[in-house]
Amino acid sequence: MLEIYNSLTRFKETFKPLHEGHVGMYVCGPTVYGDAHLGHARPAITFDLLYRYLQYLGYKVRYVRNITDVGHLEHDADEGEDKIAKKARLEQLEPMEVVQFYTNRYHRDMAALNVLPPSIEPHASGHIIEQIAFVQKILDKGYAYVSNGSVYMDVEKYAKDYPYGKLSGRNLNDIVTETRELDGQDEKKHSYDFALWKKAAPEHIMHWPSPWSEGFPGWHMECSTMGTKYLGERFDIHGGGLDLIFPHHEAEIAQSCAALGHETVHYWMHNNMITIAGKKMGKSYNNFITLEQFFKGEHPLLSKPFGPMVIRFFILQAHYRSTVDFSSEALEAAEKGLQRMQEAYARLLKLQAGNQTTVEVAGLRQRCTEAMDDDLNTPFVIAALFDSTRAINTVHDGKGTISEADLKELREVWKTFAIDILGLRLEEQGGDEGKQKAFNGAIDLLLGIRLQAKQNKDWATSDKIRNELTALGFQIKDTKDGFEWSI
Ligand code: ZN
Repeated sequence: MLEIYNSLTRFKETFKPLHEGHVGMYVCGPTVYGDAHLGHARPAITFDLLYRYLQYLGYKVRYVRNITDVGHLEHDADEGEDKIAKKARLEQLEPMEVVQFYTNRYHRDMAALNVLPPSIEPHASGHIIEQIAFVQKILDKGYAYVSNGSVYMDVEKYAKDYPYGKLSGRNLNDIVTETRELDGQDEKKHSYDFALWKKAAPEHIMHWPSPWSEGFPGWHMECSTMGTKYLGERFDIHGGGLDLIFPHHEAEIAQSCAALGHETVHYWMHNNMITIAGKKMGKSYNNFITLEQFFKGEHPLLSKPFGPMVIRFFILQAHYRSTVDFSSEALEAAEKGLQRMQEAYARLLKLQAGNQTTVEVAGLRQRCTEAMDDDLNTPFVIAALFDSTRAINTVHDGKGTISEADLKELREVWKTFAIDILGLRLEEQGGDEGKQKAFNGAIDLLLGIRLQAKQNKDWATSDKIRNELTALGFQIKDTKDGFEWSI
């Protein structure tokens, strides 16, 4: 029987890892043929949150997130050109140059979003031998067939023995009507059969030898293979975006059951999608906004640049199973919310303890823990933290007091939930933009003091400031109405 948990309600009670104290977690990573966009940020942040929370609960987590660098064709129904190979052909690059280039940029964007790197990041192209062995196992069990050098999953035969479509709630009839007939499908018995191995066409530049043909693995094969290679034949959590349930995850389940005779995944978790002004993100809508475009404000749909922490906060403001609709106004609101949190945290760090507590701070840790336990309810965690800002401001304004023990606890709860679990960088007010502003302000302040000194004929102070700033690499120019500086 296939057990499906699509959410972890009452996390602590319902989540039972297969090996005590350890969690194995596999998340479908990016296909690296272009820059990461908002649609990549959501699963990365959702499963980063889970990774951080599991570690907070004391589990030793092995987190595997793959890099798809071969076999993901333009149409999910096994047709079209390989996405990486196409990019390589268009840009006259070696496919692995495309892979390396976009993998580096993906890592850069994920680091900006404060997404922790996974424990293992396997590449599909580095596991061809293992994938061939996995395909062979399915053939040996009789759930696949070879046709014209390609190997296809025999879905009809498989569906007689296992519940194909259970994860997506589809049955074979639904799938038949959904599956488009495309060129080359005549070598399949049924349109819903999917490729485990594809014979490479002569113009196809990424191919490897196999018992069946010079070719490449089907897209779904890498996750079945690498998941079980690094996490074992049964592992705890498999995650990804909701759009991957069908065909990708349904195919993964079928491949694993066919080869091993049982399900490998204990809990499936899927994050919902991001829409842009109510529309799905897609090439046909021309509404893909890359993370870099967000950070630089370079897209017609953006009113201004938005820092990576604003994007992270924006995504965490919604529960991972709800849809999020992006608009520039929604991001501006998220930016204000994040600033309020950053200000509150800066105040919290500066508060002085009193003899007793006269403000409402009790129960904050419990509220945050209960919210996280309730299927990672981040909007509730954020609301609880916001509620506590009232107490912070009351003490800050001198209208209340907080005891030393309560202040220590309040600081710890903010550090644990806002910084360590939600992964918000609260100490960097305004991100890079804010740092730059503060830096410029400090230099202007120093040169203002120098100007004052000059007017007072205090040449010693004036020269000291100029000489020491010059030694640090600044160029200072006196002008008619003040000064100018550069580095
Ligand atoms: Zn996958």
